[in-house]
Amino acid sequence: MLRIHDLWASYGPILALQGVSLEVPEGSITAILGANGAGKSTTLRTISGLLKPSRGVIEYEGRRIDRSSAESIVEMGILQVLEGRQLFTEMTVLENLKLGAYTRSDRGSISADMDRMFELFPILKERISQQAGLLSGGEQQQLAIARALMARPRLLLLDEPSLGLAPLVTRAIYGVVQQINAEGVTILLVEQNVNLALDVASYGYVIETGRIAVEDEAGKLRENETVRKSYLGY
Ligand code: ATP
Repeated sequence: MLRIHDLWASYGPILALQGVSLEVPEGSITAILGANGAGKSTTLRTISGLLKPSRGVIEYEGRRIDRSSAESIVEMGILQVLEGRQLFTEMTVLENLKLGAYTRSDRGSISADMDRMFELFPILKERISQQAGLLSGGEQQQLAIARALMARPRLLLLDEPSLGLAPLVTRAIYGVVQQINAEGVTILLVEQNVNLALDVASYGYVIETGRIAVEDEAGKLRENETVRKSYLGY
């Protein structure tokens, strides 16, 4: 579904990606793992068009998107849930969800999808009229994912959904991630919690200083010596 070849990207003089290549098969959960500053978020930002790569190719369903605008990439069905969530904090839960659907032309099914979000994330129904900025971290993460889902993505890019959250909340969020994947949404997941990522992903890439250092099926990555020593601590 998504193929990245020899991707390079910089922030001014800082070289963040130095030839990243990876693939995300349709229907999969694929993980990008790595330490702070390795280039995980940057990889997602180049896919969603927020950062233009200096070199390399990004293909989505056989079509080059590395020169497309962020808006047209959303319209093609790629949605990113940013690290830090980027909600409209002054607006209510309901308003945030409605804004998630702004690119859709099938307005008729929006309210059914809204109900579906409240089924997946019951806490959002309880907080429907609350300002997003007043939600807890876990609730904000759920709202950010629900808002992205309101756009009916085909490929969801998740940046550190477990960041700063308690284990129970994290588990609940990952339960939903697996559920939406089972319903057909392909997922590219960035996660520092390597154990968690390898539990849900089928394949993973480890990125180190802007390059893919190791890649393999999730089960094999867990046994990989470098991964164990550097990221699992045993
Ligand atoms: P983290 O988990 O800490 O977010 P990451 O793997 O997602 O790490 P990136 O955010 O992709 O890492 O950062 C890759 C490199 O680019 C780092 O050296 C970082 O300092 C740099 N960088 C990231 N964003 C910017 C920015 N807006 N301006 C300048 N440098 C940046």
